[in-house]
Amino acid sequence: MKNLLAPVNSSDDIKAEYRNTPIGQLLEYHNLNRPFETYEKASLLVGMCMDNRKHLNIPDNFAFIIRSGGANLRYSEFKVSYAIGVGRVGHIVLIGHNNCGMVNLISRETEFINGLVETAGWEKERAEEHFLHFAPMFEIGSETDFILSETKRLRLRYPKIIIAPLFYLVEDNKLYFLEEF
Ligand SMILES: [Zn+2]
Repeated sequence: MKNLLAPVNSSDDIKAEYRNTPIGQLLEYHNLNRPFETYEKASLLVGMCMDNRKHLNIPDNFAFIIRSGGANLRYSEFKVSYAIGVGRVGHIVLIGHNNCGMVNLISRETEFINGLVETAGWEKERAEEHFLHFAPMFEIGSETDFILSETKRLRLRYPKIIIAPLFYLVEDNKLYFLEEF
């Protein structure tokens, strides 16, 4: 996976097509500790996983953020359209991360069902149905492949929006470009 990730350790590492855009600014704020500017409105939409290990270092008002398992925006499309249509953002980043819980969901079936029964007080049968119904919709297969395919899908859906696939390594809390070959 490492050869799919392009680090951003200086402004020169920001790919030319994203420099001086909100996408470049995000990378400068988060990776390079660029001093925060003041924003009146968001200029970027961030799609990222709900995973608790991740936190973006960005100024107030800089970005809309939609968090969902695996940064899967397939079921958040109205919110994406809202950020574009009403919020007028012209740039989106999708941020995947390693060790994502939405990969190989089936391996967590028993844990998921028992957890719902014990923690939420669900009937076991209902918890099983719930898992079997939704797991295929939320399974992402591979963290990197999913972000790249989701990027392609959203570029087709919103052709004038600039969209970049990024990746968050939980070991160093840095953002990387996901290479598109
Ligand atoms: Zn995740």
